[in-house]
Amino acid sequence: MRRNKTAGIIIYAALLLVAISLLSWWVKSMNAQGLSYSKVVTLFEEEKVRAFSVKDNTLHLYLWEPLDGSTEQVSYLYSTDAFREDLGALFREQSASGVLESYTFLPDSSPSIISRTMPYLLAGLVLIMVWAFLSSRSASGVTGFGKAKANLGPAGKPVKFSDVAGADEEKAELQEVVDFLRDPRKFQNMGAKVPKGVLLEGPPGTGKTLLARAAAGEAEVQFLSISGSDFVELYVGVGASRVRDLFDQAKKMAPAIVFIDEIDAVGRRRGAGMGGGHDEREQTLNQLLVEMDGFQANEGVIVLAATNRRDILDPALLRPGRFDRHIYVGAPDAKGREEILKLHARNKRLAGEVDLKTVALATSGFTGADLENLLNEAAILAVRENRAVITSGDLDEAMMKIIAGPQKRSRVSRKRDLQITAIHEAGHAVAMYFLPTQDPVRQITIIPRGQALGLTVSFPEEDSAHMTRNEMYESIVGLLGGRVAEALFCGDISTGASNDIQRATKLARDMVARYGMSEKIGAVSYESDQEIFVGRDYEKTKSYSEETAGQLDQEVKSLVDRAYGQCAELLKEHRKKLQDVADFLLANETMSGKQFRACMEGAPFSAEGGDSLLFPQE
Ligand code: ADP
Ligand code: MG
Ligand code: ZN
Repeated sequence: MRRNKTAGIIIYAALLLVAISLLSWWVKSMNAQGLSYSKVVTLFEEEKVRAFSVKDNTLHLYLWEPLDGSTEQVSYLYSTDAFREDLGALFREQSASGVLESYTFLPDSSPSIISRTMPYLLAGLVLIMVWAFLSSRSASGVTGFGKAKANLGPAGKPVKFSDVAGADEEKAELQEVVDFLRDPRKFQNMGAKVPKGVLLEGPPGTGKTLLARAAAGEAEVQFLSISGSDFVELYVGVGASRVRDLFDQAKKMAPAIVFIDEIDAVGRRRGAGMGGGHDEREQTLNQLLVEMDGFQANEGVIVLAATNRRDILDPALLRPGRFDRHIYVGAPDAKGREEILKLHARNKRLAGEVDLKTVALATSGFTGADLENLLNEAAILAVRENRAVITSGDLDEAMMKIIAGPQKRSRVSRKRDLQITAIHEAGHAVAMYFLPTQDPVRQITIIPRGQALGLTVSFPEEDSAHMTRNEMYESIVGLLGGRVAEALFCGDISTGASNDIQRATKLARDMVARYGMSEKIGAVSYESDQEIFVGRDYEKTKSYSEETAGQLDQEVKSLVDRAYGQCAELLKEHRKKLQDVADFLLANETMSGKQFRACMEGAPFSAEGGDSLLFPQE
């Protein structure tokens, strides 16, 4: 890839150089000594011309007096034969009056090929450059459209399994692929069938691409990688020929790993109501299927692919002989997170109080990419503030930035808005505190961040695999806390709760229609995973009657109503505490978990005695 790029740049530079020198030469010969047609005419009219000669479309003038004080001889290159005749007429006129001494019309040397063809040459050159530019954008170098833009091997040091932290099971599964590529004969002698295609699936940022690279690095084989979106380009037929080319290359280089990243871009289920214009993608997919069938399992090529949407892949891709082995790459557990944090902290300096294990516990649901990002943001903050080490404060701020976006301190809020926000966030916090299943509140703030005017941050003390009905229900109560508090304390409600309401409704709907948690509806799932493309979005199709739809809606509404009622009870009961939290927020903008807990317990707390978000004090 890199080498191709430099070659491309050199070709560009050469072409450009040639074009510039040709152009300048042409321009110079065009208006020799800068004489224009009107100037020629004026010279004749003012009777300054003593003699002239003509050869090869060039008029040489010999003047009575030097022009501009220096030259007595000037030339002009003309392009029409009519001009020649005009000159003849001029001569007859002016020689009769004695102004002109002499003239010569010399026979042309063979017509100057260069000057005649120059415009065409230049146009051709421009075309070539445009073409080179276009094809270098769609394929690498100046090689042509149908070539696969395969990345040959990771640049620099190869990635090894040791660069992937935490994913022990995933690595163990890939180890088999590595072993095969290292010594295919061992497997062939045993008559063992090795998978041709392995599909890595899982949410974005969990390290699928990294794992594929590491597998190639461990096996020390060629790594040809291409992203699904590279296939899907403007020109019809290009995708399919790229697939062919990719596999041809791989077979020549075997043993090799072909890695198709984001395969869902080409591998989406065929004929799924996408409307017209998806022929190209289908052709590419068909070619991929053909290629995968076209080589034997023991040719030393293994195809890895990655996706975060296995559900939308065409079933043909997943059939035996194609991607029949699947490795699920999920978000890491607490131990995995700690290992990933340690790996990415290797080249960073952390303050003594920073304990990565605590960070790992507080970051449930974070992927490897999130964790890397967390440490990186913290490091940037430390550099910006000229600190030698990354402090717990830097990590807190980085965490908030990742959860909700950067602070927007410059956003000026009116007093009334701040009051509403303070009451709103206090409502969430107090409701969550008194709901047994809800996570502890770690921070409440009315400093705007991202799109949010304020924020109540809570996260679990440990990972949990299940959401129980009670937990989901109480989440709805907590989400409604903001809106309920506004209604109770401000006498009016605001738009600030729109996101809360959306999320509460979605949760209620999932409880009723997806997880079968409503008594009235029963343990029936009305979720279908059939997707159809409707304009901008993929919508789920309904496979139930209007009557059922009505019942579902009613049940969702009654669930949310019940949660609202319970929340109102709770906040009325703790009216005084809610007001205290809101007052504290208005005075100090941010309340830490420790201060909040003290406030709820009726213990004394001060504006100074806050604690850290990620490293709370007990
Ligand atoms: P995916 O392909 O699943 O979307 P990537 O492989 O592109 O994710 O991961 C993005 C980045 O996150 C990687 O470059 C790596 O720095 C980091 N990362 C993700 N998972 C891990 C892990 N298990 N160990 C170390 N780093 C990881
Ligand atoms: Mg990826
Ligand atoms: Zn809210």
